[in-house]
Amino acid sequence: MIKNVVVVGGGIGGTMTANNLVSKLYPEVVRGEVRVTLVSNSPWHYYKPAFMYVAFGAFYKEELRRHQASLLRPEINFVLDQVDGFEFTESRLKMSSGNVYEYDYLVVSTGCIPSPERIEGLQEGGDHFYQHAPARKLFEKISTIEKGRIFVGVTFPTTPNVPHQCGIAPMETTLMLDEFLRQRGVRDQVEIVYTYPTVSQLIRNCLFLQKDTCEVLPSVFDMKGIKHKRGFTLKNVDPDRKVAISEEGEEEDFDILIQTPPIRAVDAVIDSGVSQAPNREGWLPTDRQSLQLEGYENVFVMGDTVDLPISKAGGSCHNQSPVICNNIAGLMRWGKTVEEYDGKVQAIAQMGMEAGMPLWYDYDVDVIPTPATKIGGLMRKGFNRGVYWSVARGLV
Ligand SMILES: Cc1cc2nc3c(=O)[nH]c(=O)nc-3n(C[C@H](O)[C@H](O)[C@H](O)COP(=O)(O)OP(=O)(O)OC[C@H]3O[C@@H](n4cnc5c(N)ncnc54)[C@H](O)[C@@H]3O)c2cc1C
Repeated sequence: MIKNVVVVGGGIGGTMTANNLVSKLYPEVVRGEVRVTLVSNSPWHYYKPAFMYVAFGAFYKEELRRHQASLLRPEINFVLDQVDGFEFTESRLKMSSGNVYEYDYLVVSTGCIPSPERIEGLQEGGDHFYQHAPARKLFEKISTIEKGRIFVGVTFPTTPNVPHQCGIAPMETTLMLDEFLRQRGVRDQVEIVYTYPTVSQLIRNCLFLQKDTCEVLPSVFDMKGIKHKRGFTLKNVDPDRKVAISEEGEEEDFDILIQTPPIRAVDAVIDSGVSQAPNREGWLPTDRQSLQLEGYENVFVMGDTVDLPISKAGGSCHNQSPVICNNIAGLMRWGKTVEEYDGKVQAIAQMGMEAGMPLWYDYDVDVIPTPATKIGGLMRKGFNRGVYWSVARGLV
């Protein structure tokens, strides 16, 4: 009987994994023994990191997205539909269309949802760059501000040891903001204050997520006159007074509040009832080595949906995808998983508009900062403008 491997989510994790699965299982696919299906609720695939650049007036919408089907190998069965019910015990998916799909193996890569409405007043009073429309709105503000105070804050999930999306993005955008305002000639009249919450989930109370980076990067901020402080955990926002209020009892005024919003898993994942995460955040309990959903041998989880203490980043998906493909092939061919994820993530941090800093880390070794250089910036531009699409296609 044909084995059905279903991948849910047409973001970076799901797209590269569907493509990689066909490569890995090619003999079985051409013999008609395995069918790989990708289910996604959007006909478009967005290069999400580009939203960060949208906030600075770069990247038109057509540049940062592709038709989902155009990124998939021809052997993949692409289904445009939404999973409303994950029935893990029955190995079954219930769809918005009313269809029901059964699977032998499942990969869940449904990402996370920015949810500013989870903090009182933030939706009305704050801005962010984690989705396209809010990033455009932020661009309108920072491209017209002449003087005042831009207050930057970071919100972590309440689930212990689960980070916010893309650990380095708030720092990257703060450096870009500094340069953008300099180019506009208004930097001297605009104060930038970067803050970090008291409980930064990864135990180390750092400004920039990990120990080594937090020792180096504040001096970069100092050189640019960016003020910074720890211990500001946003509790609520008073949009009328333009004041951010912290759990620690402080009030900070702002003209623009750029706040990394709370995040959560998508509704269907939360409603599956499998997650034990507090505050209905919905992160799926994931085996940190095999990437299997705890208690379900035939289900794998990746990307932003996991409950692991590892960056919610495309650079994580890039290393998780081969592990999942090898483990599905292992289960199919030999009845056991064969590879372990070591927590590896790699990225090139955007350090201002032109420079880039390659970095990598895993479960055991923190980020080791490297010099920010123009070469690093070229690598990042190359990734933004082209290499990303090859990664999604499973070619790089
Ligand atoms: C502003 C910004 C900057 C970033 N910068 C970087 C960076 O520099 N480097 C880096 O590595 N990462 C970065 N990231 C993070 C990176 O984009 C995410 O970690 C990555 O997209 C996660 O991939 P994913 O497959 O888990 O989820 P996503 O890419 O979010 O994809 C989820 C997919 O699932 C689909 N879906 C959701 N629910 C359902 C459902 N019920 N049924 C069917 N389909 C569904 C969605 O339509 C979507 O296609 C950044 C993110 C943002 C927003």
